[in-house]
Amino acid sequence: MLIHDLSAGDLSGKHHRSCAKIASGQKLSSLYSPARCAYEPCLQCIYEGGSRLDWKLCSDQPPGGSWNRYLPSQSTLSHFTEMGMPDHPIDGLGMNCTAQPPPPEPCKKIVTDGRSLVNYYQNYARTLPSERMMIGKVVSASLKGSVWQDGLFWDVKIQGQEKKEWCVESENLLLAIGRTQPNWLNIPGEKQNPYVSHWTHDACRSMACLQAGGSILVVGDGFSACDTIWEAWQKGLTVTHLLPSWVRDEAVRVGKAGGSGRHGLIQHLNYRQSERHYKVARAMAFPEECAAFYRQGVDCRLVRIINGRECFIEKHKDGKVVQHDKIMFDHIALLTGAKADYSFLPDAIKSSLFCSNGALDVCPETMESRSCRNLFLLGFCAGEAFLRHTFGHAISAVETIRGRERVRQMGDCRRNRIESMECG
Ligand SMILES: Cc1cc2nc3c(=O)[nH]c(=O)nc-3n(C[C@H](O)[C@H](O)[C@H](O)COP(=O)(O)OP(=O)(O)OC[C@H]3O[C@@H](n4cnc5c(N)ncnc54)[C@H](O)[C@@H]3O)c2cc1C
Repeated sequence: MLIHDLSAGDLSGKHHRSCAKIASGQKLSSLYSPARCAYEPCLQCIYEGGSRLDWKLCSDQPPGGSWNRYLPSQSTLSHFTEMGMPDHPIDGLGMNCTAQPPPPEPCKKIVTDGRSLVNYYQNYARTLPSERMMIGKVVSASLKGSVWQDGLFWDVKIQGQEKKEWCVESENLLLAIGRTQPNWLNIPGEKQNPYVSHWTHDACRSMACLQAGGSILVVGDGFSACDTIWEAWQKGLTVTHLLPSWVRDEAVRVGKAGGSGRHGLIQHLNYRQSERHYKVARAMAFPEECAAFYRQGVDCRLVRIINGRECFIEKHKDGKVVQHDKIMFDHIALLTGAKADYSFLPDAIKSSLFCSNGALDVCPETMESRSCRNLFLLGFCAGEAFLRHTFGHAISAVETIRGRERVRQMGDCRRNRIESMECG
């Protein structure tokens, strides 16, 4: 979570919002200073026209956010240089680098892993003023509405491990809280079950204890499901995979004839950049090619888990249940996405964050909530999974705050002038 994060810059309009749009997901060009031949520092306390623009950063995890939870061996999807902060180039900093695809295919991308990234982010954080970093602290949900807007200001209740609470006041609140709540299937047996995991890293840690020849059920068809299936294969486990028919049909179409589609993972059938994504997508299209270690349940729904790992699965066709199965698995990975945990917000603010169709209601130019002024949502919690685009969000929000600050300063100047004329 960022509270009033402001990047340094001059007043020439270089950080103009249209630049922020260009920077979003691109090369962060608006942060580059040709005069200094360097990127501007991302998190700095600066003085502008004599008034101080200040920030504090609060996170329950060490720098690196969710990467602290992922497996140290987990690789990035992006080229590794895209995971770096603009003012602290990641290139040449002793990262573990892996060519994708591996030889003998021509290398198209170089990826890195969770361990290297966490080291990099933590080293970066050491360059920041420690008095502004509230690490290991949560924005507390111990009291309903621990965050509220009191007139112009946000009052944010922060809690440390020792349960001590204190309040931080800020004018702007930037939430970059990721997604920490799994999308529950709402079926019996999915919660507090040691045989069930909701994250790739948890599934991989559980699978590490299984013998080759064991079986795993994977529900979901995104990149987390893909990584889990791949890891299961590396351990010699057999995967049963439940996925919707539209995904399987798209995989078959792209696998046979190429072309684009809606599904991110399936597109890997077109460009062999990553062995694991290509091979899992290929299995989704042509399960008969790997029947010894991959089975599919198309349009099948897990409806109940009993005794830890006995799964009741229903097959649906034309809106009707056409088959019931009861199968025992050694592990069950439910990888159906996650959502942000806004439990620290008062109910009124929480409900106003969303449109009637459930989509987050933010202005895409500024990333500010349309209903709640001075509240900005960035990154994963705002629906963006890639760091480069998250930077775009951050720049848009910060430019909005800076723009308002400038207008206020100009107003103050004019007011002072009028007062001095009156005095004269
Ligand atoms: C396996 C995997 C591979 C990925 N590969 C790539 C890749 O190659 N390239 C890429 O760009 N992205 C990749 N991503 C996505 C990447 O993880 C996200 O882009 C990034 O972590 C999102 O950053 P964020 O800051 O929005 O959220 P997060 O990294 O989730 O950080 C949010 C932080 O806020 C903390 N928090 C939440 N609530 C509170 C609270 N109340 N108080 C205090 N702290 C709180 C959370 O604990 C967390 O530490 C990958 C994701 C996965 C799962």
